Amino acid sequence: MSIVQREVSNLLMKYGTNNPFDISSQKNILIFYEELGDIWGYYNLFVRVPMIHINNELTEFNSRFTCAHELGHYILHPNVNTPFLKKNTLFCVSKIEREANHFATHLLIGNDVPYPDETKAQFLTRNGIPSNMHGFY
Ligand SMILES: [Zn+2]
Repeated sequence: MSIVQREVSNLLMKYGTNNPFDISSQKNILIFYEELGDIWGYYNLFVRVPMIHINNELTEFNSRFTCAHELGHYILHPNVNTPFLKKNTLFCVSKIEREANHFATHLLIGNDVPYPDETKAQFLTRNGIPSNMHGFY
């Protein structure tokens, strides 16, 4: 099990949910919905208060993934003000971005397993993972 997967399973156990919004609120992370143009979201720490910013034009599906990704930064890279998660640069990503995507896919899957007749892509989509993120599972 990778460090990222271990962090995810600790959270699932501690909070009894894989909902990134619920976990963020239990951790007193402030969530803001803002006009961010091409940016899906970002995480920052301001006067020791962790904040997740989400583009207010995203679909609910993509907001949820973005929240999970930014929560990953909080867990894995708490002191880094992360580069923006941009629509068109999802593949051109640094180590911390890959880790946050890896975290988000594992969190959103939680303890779920595929149905017997389900493809990997169907399974990941059913769990809220955008198709361009399927490679991170
Ligand atoms: Zn990021």
